[in-house]
Amino acid sequence: MDSSALAFTYLFCALLVGGLIVRTVLASRQIRHVVRHRDRVPDPFAATIGLDAHRKAADYTVAKARFGMLESAIEAALLLGWTLLGGLHALNQWLLQWMEPGMWQQLALLGAFTLIGAVLTLPLGWWSTFRLEERFGFNKMSLSLWLGDLLKGAVVGALIGLPIAALVLWLMGAAGPTWWLWAWGAWMVFNLLLLVLYPTLIAPLFNKFEPLQDETLKTRVNDLMKRCGFAAKGLFVMDGSKRSAHANAYFTGFGAAKRVVFFDTLLKQLAPPEIDAVLAHELGHYKRRHILQRTVLMFALSLVGFAVLGWVSRQAWFYTGLGVVPSLDAPNDALALLLFLMVVPLFTYFLSPLIAQLSRRHEFEADAYACAHTDGNDLASALLKLYKDNASTLTPDPVFARFYYSHPPASERIARLQGAAA
Ligand SMILES: [Zn+2]
Repeated sequence: MDSSALAFTYLFCALLVGGLIVRTVLASRQIRHVVRHRDRVPDPFAATIGLDAHRKAADYTVAKARFGMLESAIEAALLLGWTLLGGLHALNQWLLQWMEPGMWQQLALLGAFTLIGAVLTLPLGWWSTFRLEERFGFNKMSLSLWLGDLLKGAVVGALIGLPIAALVLWLMGAAGPTWWLWAWGAWMVFNLLLLVLYPTLIAPLFNKFEPLQDETLKTRVNDLMKRCGFAAKGLFVMDGSKRSAHANAYFTGFGAAKRVVFFDTLLKQLAPPEIDAVLAHELGHYKRRHILQRTVLMFALSLVGFAVLGWVSRQAWFYTGLGVVPSLDAPNDALALLLFLMVVPLFTYFLSPLIAQLSRRHEFEADAYACAHTDGNDLASALLKLYKDNASTLTPDPVFARFYYSHPPASERIARLQGAAA
């Protein structure tokens, strides 16, 4: 192995171990902090949240943090198995014994890798749903529904994923040194297409969407949207309760396909003014151009990603440094793609505090928007109900929250809302 490959191996190991240490330290901090505050509801919430609910939230948070530690250890082991321990190289060589080098062999490699990864992590998914979520009363899925979802997800994933993978692989082989620019363009078009197809074709495969029936609520919501100058094609209720007791509301699609989706669980838990306030918060994300900013950021980051992939896919050290011997007489594009997708999260993990920070700023801005168009007290009481029903902890570790939380901790958020309303 030459010196650049060796240096890359060291960098890879350092990031792998470093990431695992940071994850473990943060999760342990979170567990310690939550356990320490388990027996007392923080003062601002003492009137609204009972001690039992507070304890349940603490236990749920601790269980999730523990599970997260196990998950990251298993994922790190799998990553090591695929790369330095030779898993990906062996899989590729095995397929080359059976198939001619070329497009089909490469697609088979992508497919086999995805399938093996899915099977190996299946027990984690099962445990998360039928042990963790079940224990706290959130899981509403039967085993057959869960298996049906998996099967449907695999078929939809293959129908969508294989054509775009084939296109990218073809560009890598045929479009010359600037293939990555073309591939990025194709990836962007594909993402925009998905944004249109997801709400109308894909999501209905998994859930039922029915137009909102409740006339009073419909009038309220339409009034609010008119006040905010927002046009949506429809208001829908989704049967989220089919799978989970967690509640949510979201916007989906863009342009003419834009729609508002309420989980049935949300409508059941909140009073009409609270539903207004939650919707106003979501409208705030739209009106303050957060969705646009996020999309532009995603486009820019993937351009950087494709440029880096374009460069590393031509470097021998990128393959040998990760335990793969590239073929001399067969295309290595699928190998490059897989290695890249495996390694990138090791780097981007350390960017998560920046992304989380941006997201929390957007949440505050959307809250401010909601306060300007509805009553801030309604949003505060809606959030409290959601925190309680989702068993979200009110006492997260400050460092953990800074690193990961896409939403500001409850205490900060509600204090600000009540300040704005007063
Ligand atoms: Zn938000």
